[in-house]
Amino acid sequence: METRDLSAHVPYSAGRGVEEVARELGLDPDGLVKLSSNENPFGPSPAAVEVVRDAAEQVHTYPKSSHTDLTERLAERWSVEPAQVWLSPGGDGFLDYLSRTFLHEGDRVLAPDPGFAYYPMSARSHGATVDRYRLSKADNFEQSTEVVLDAYDGQRIVYVTTPHNPTGSEMPLDEIEALAAAVDEETLVVVDEAYGKFTDQPSARSLIDEHDNVAILRTFSKTYGLAGLRVGYGLVPADWADAYDRINTPFAVNKLGCLAGLAALDDEEHVRRTVEGARWAREYMRDNLDARTWESGGNFVLAEVGDAAAVAEAAQQEGVIIRDCSSFGLSDCVRITCGTEPQTRTAVETINEVLE
Ligand SMILES: *Cc1c(COP(=O)(O)O)cnc(C)c1O
Repeated sequence: METRDLSAHVPYSAGRGVEEVARELGLDPDGLVKLSSNENPFGPSPAAVEVVRDAAEQVHTYPKSSHTDLTERLAERWSVEPAQVWLSPGGDGFLDYLSRTFLHEGDRVLAPDPGFAYYPMSARSHGATVDRYRLSKADNFEQSTEVVLDAYDGQRIVYVTTPHNPTGSEMPLDEIEALAAAVDEETLVVVDEAYGKFTDQPSARSLIDEHDNVAILRTFSKTYGLAGLRVGYGLVPADWADAYDRINTPFAVNKLGCLAGLAALDDEEHVRRTVEGARWAREYMRDNLDARTWESGGNFVLAEVGDAAAVAEAAQQEGVIIRDCSSFGLSDCVRITCGTEPQTRTAVETINEVLE
């Protein structure tokens, strides 16, 4: 038996896990500093942990009410109708739901380069082909209407990431709005706000009242520290929000994820600590790394280090795991997630030693 031809589909390469690296190096995972996947260094919201423990004995039933509760709570927070909140298994799941909703065999999408690997993966697995717009290092990866429109040619979906992974650059709201207005009526602009909590820039939420071709991705993986539970969602315009019931995987988010999400939303102390910690760490890295870095709106910093694969490998030998950005097309850059204060100091010291 053979699969369909997947030769044009590039496998997702994730940041390396602590257990994986510890096993390989024969080290204790607790001694490693893992700053390669933009996870929350403070762990999950403690309130969410408690709820998950308590809910363990209820996992034999489908998450009907918890799914509804989380949807309604998010709708309240964002001042939208519950139907406009599409819960999904991670933010990545929302990308798939949009692909299912909009893409036909042979459609084209437009994604940033460098950029998040799952946009092309999701689009390709739904029969689309992928074009790119270039964020150029020479312009500090600047994001603008013009940069996207230069490469735009009627694609069905255009992906915008702000703050952008892996560079940290941001697209101002008025530029996003101009983009939504400039593209064809039948082009969807997806604004990926996975790192939206870490920036002072406003969300694109305001656009979905006026523009029926804008959708927004959010996730519980980063600020709320629930990456392991796979909870994300999208906010979509009212006009086509009812498509969700036709395309979603039933009970898109599992029960523990829904309950943890509800608890984490209200855990303001955890969010505050996470966001303030990230702000401190990104400034510290920018001030102290002996490498060129870029301003970042996210919980990570991009640094130019020469041979990224070699630097990441050498840092790993010293117990610090960072992301070699070669798979993003930036073979001279590494991305370092904001850690706790001690983790961040250790990472900077180690990377500086490696660079020396
Ligand atoms: C982390 C991330 C997501 C979503 O991740 P999930 O864990 O699937 O919620 C989406 N977009 C970008 C750019 C990300 O970095």
